[in-house]
Amino acid sequence: MSVKQPPRLEVQNLTRAFEGRRVVDDVSFAIEAGQVACLLGPSGCGKSTTLRIVAGVDMQDAGRILVDGQLICDTQFRIPPERRAIGLMFQDFALFPHLPVAENVAFGLTGGWRANRTRVAELLDRVKMSPHLESYPHELSGGEQQRVALARALAPRPRVLLMDEPFSGLDERLRDGIRDETLALLKDEGTAVLLVTHEPHEAMRMADLILLMRDGRIVQQGAPYNLYNAPVDRQAAAFFSDVN
Ligand code: ADP
Ligand code: MG
Repeated sequence: MSVKQPPRLEVQNLTRAFEGRRVVDDVSFAIEAGQVACLLGPSGCGKSTTLRIVAGVDMQDAGRILVDGQLICDTQFRIPPERRAIGLMFQDFALFPHLPVAENVAFGLTGGWRANRTRVAELLDRVKMSPHLESYPHELSGGEQQRVALARALAPRPRVLLMDEPFSGLDERLRDGIRDETLALLKDEGTAVLLVTHEPHEAMRMADLILLMRDGRIVQQGAPYNLYNAPVDRQAAAFFSDVN
């Protein structure tokens, strides 16, 4: 008999106000291991604030967060960011300019590059960057830097990976290819992913679960085809109408 596992990441009734205005308002969702969830909504709706609270670099006014069923923060208790086993990848993926590719990827690993050759080589091979092991970030294209940043974020095998608009700095023509490559690697690694985007097309292409956000609230959540076929209201329908 199998025992049901708790979700990998569970966010319960999260609320955050700035100057009396709720920018995150009673947000709840759960993500299973191996799932990619896209937090989708227009600019300013509260996506990055939600991510920052999950990462532990901002604090909620109400609500709690659990990883594998274990409390990582509520309003009384808080595990610091570096002990949450949560990986981060932001828009300006900011590789360390003074470190070669291999050392960038090994940065979060105990013992650095020498103690983790196998893991670093495996990831760089997986993102097709093996020939660039010793290159420095400024010698790489934007797409190549993005792939190194992905390898770096995954190297410590985070329980959850948070990605904030990870493709928005890239050339439009490269984006779909990199989205597909990224998704394949995320699936291989089996991590749970919370990816922030304002592009419906990106969420439709990548998500197992879409969390549609508006004015701080999750207005609808479900599989991409459910949101596309049965949008909760006219505004949601209009948001998805451009996706082909
Ligand atoms: P999104 O990522 O969806 O574009 P954000 O979470 O960055 O939205 O911001 C949501 C709202 O909260 C915005 O109106 C933003 O101006 C406001 N906000 C974010 N951070 C702060 C802050 N530290 N102080 C005051 N207002 C903030
Ligand atoms: Mg944002």
